[in-house]
Amino acid sequence: MGEAYQALNEQTAVNYARRLEGVFPEEAVLENREIGDGNLNLVFHIVDPASGRSVIIKQALPYARVVGESWPLTLDRARIEGEALQLYNQWAPGLVPKVFASDREQALTVMEDLSDHIILRKGMIGRTRYPRLAEDMAAFLARTLFFSSEYALTPAEKKARVRQFINPEMCDITEKLVFTDPYYDAETNSFNPLIREEVESIWKNEGLKREVAQLKEAFMARAQALLHGDLHTGSIMVTAESTKVIDPEFAFYGPMGFDVGALWANFFLSYVSQEGHPGDAEEIRSYREWIRDTAEAMWTGFESRFRALWQEHVTDPMWTAPGFLDDVIHQVLQDAAGFAGCKMMRRVIGLAPVADLESLEDASERAKAEKLALEVGKALVLRRRNLHSAEDVLRLVCSIA
Ligand code: ADP
Ligand code: MG
Ligand code: MG
Ligand code: MG
Repeated sequence: MGEAYQALNEQTAVNYARRLEGVFPEEAVLENREIGDGNLNLVFHIVDPASGRSVIIKQALPYARVVGESWPLTLDRARIEGEALQLYNQWAPGLVPKVFASDREQALTVMEDLSDHIILRKGMIGRTRYPRLAEDMAAFLARTLFFSSEYALTPAEKKARVRQFINPEMCDITEKLVFTDPYYDAETNSFNPLIREEVESIWKNEGLKREVAQLKEAFMARAQALLHGDLHTGSIMVTAESTKVIDPEFAFYGPMGFDVGALWANFFLSYVSQEGHPGDAEEIRSYREWIRDTAEAMWTGFESRFRALWQEHVTDPMWTAPGFLDDVIHQVLQDAAGFAGCKMMRRVIGLAPVADLESLEDASERAKAEKLALEVGKALVLRRRNLHSAEDVLRLVCSIA
């Protein structure tokens, strides 16, 4: 047994790092900075300037950092994150940080330092193009969703994985903040007063709520694959040559479309915000085109890889029934559109805004983008059953925004 849990500070994190075996030279003088910008955890960047070696130590706090000690939150999320990263390293090597150590007692993971990468959301606000992004995320999604699923594992293995990733407290956050609170006048909501009319019309839209209820139930009840669970553009770090997925503390077994939809939602939130950020018309037009192409290519790449993995690995006589793979993919597409819609609306109405919108300083410019996000979000939920390809999805989004 290790020592009882204690939240690290800049000094104790250095002491911890020094004790790690084979990471830093014995006499190293380590520098450390707490760089966490997330809502929940501590992230320490520890460097030995002499050898050039560095690591990241991410530690969970027993409460949510944004709110404080009044919102207690399970430390088990650090185990979930460490174990998900280990599996991702097997299933999608090169697309996640390497894990050097996990410490269950201290609720922390020691991992590869990606400081030469930047958070994708920041890159997209700066209108940087990432040529590898679509293909890398297509591979990440196809491989992690396929290899964790019923289609790749034996029934016993799959059920053991479901048990490993029971993550009730983190799921509860999503169930409330994504699938419930934005659809009524909940205390957690916070939105631009200039869009009150549009928000109230969503609260009264019974048809929309019925569709969101179906998506909420799918999220809660369909244990199809190991989801990252929080795959927004703040959970992806990039350079021109590299893409890494971080922060799977929300990982659990749910419907495959949820991770695909999370990425789509964040691409589309960037898309609707572009007009509000400075730049000439041509710059804006061409960046929006890049987002559109990336969102479409990500799906196309996902589908072709998923089909190839299926052809190579699936042997079950029912899964190989003609047409079943098409049914699976069709459902992932329509779910992804619906989940994307929920995630867009939630970022406008609910807690946890996104910088793409929040950084629009002029409230009326921001309102314009937010109304577009709500319109696109609603359409994706309400019309998802008419969508049969990524082209259909992108045509719908671009016809509104
Ligand atoms: P949270 O769960 O609190 O959101 P994240 O895992 O998203 O924490 O990390 C918060 C921030 O810390 C990231 O936005 C990124 O800037 C930085 N970070 C996290 N992991 C790494 C890493 N492996 N290398 C470099 N920076 C990282
Ligand atoms: Mg994060
Ligand atoms: Mg808000
Ligand atoms: Mg997180």
